[in-house]
Amino acid sequence: MAEKVKRLGIMGGTFDPIHYGHLVTAEAARGVYALDQVLFIPSGVPPHKDAASITDAEHRYTMTVLATLTNPHFEASRVDIDRTGTTYTIDTLKSLNEEFGETVSLYFITGADAIMEIVSWKEPQALLDLAEFIAATRPGFALEDHAAWIDEWFAHHGKSLNVLQVPAMAISSTDIRRRVTEGSSVRYLVPETVEFYIRKNRLYRSNHRNS
Ligand code: ATP
Ligand code: MG
Repeated sequence: MAEKVKRLGIMGGTFDPIHYGHLVTAEAARGVYALDQVLFIPSGVPPHKDAASITDAEHRYTMTVLATLTNPHFEASRVDIDRTGTTYTIDTLKSLNEEFGETVSLYFITGADAIMEIVSWKEPQALLDLAEFIAATRPGFALEDHAAWIDEWFAHHGKSLNVLQVPAMAISSTDIRRRVTEGSSVRYLVPETVEFYIRKNRLYRSNHRNS
């Protein structure tokens, strides 16, 4: 972690695998919110996904390291995969807050689909008190359709949601897994290093991990 980090972006996800949609979103947030660094945090077992259906955490972490290598402002973090049990964002934010202290402002970056689920997340008020929330536009998930209730929900907690426009990237990990299983190309959807890593480790070859 670089010294003098004052504004820290956090990009959480399953990253199964990490793709250009994640990277473009994080880079856009870095620019707009003047973030010193963005931490990419692969989840342990996410509450909404079944452990057996996601790829081993070490593979997901290694792909995250490979994908973030060339950006000096990006870094991969093991904070969630090294904690046992289900990954809840509140625990991640508390760990980071303890690690970095009060002087560092946390910015939690999500896509439009993930932010709509925030109402069901654990300890919402504590979450919102620990970080600013940024919702990035994502093709297929129209944030505008939900703007009224989500704005009201944030206002109810004394906060507001930051909406970030990112260049449209209709890419998802689900689609990438499907392509690999079917033998289609994932070139230009993921960094080349991630593409090679998937091939070398024969990830996503069979259907059972691709739900
Ligand atoms: P899956 O299809 O397995 O759910 P995913 O592509 O949605 O994978 P996740 O690891 O679930 O990737 O997402 C991590 C975070 O990145 C979420 O907040 C999600 O909304 C956001 N995100 C993922 N893809 C994009 C994209 N193409 N544009 C904007 N945000 C994205
Ligand atoms: Mg997702």
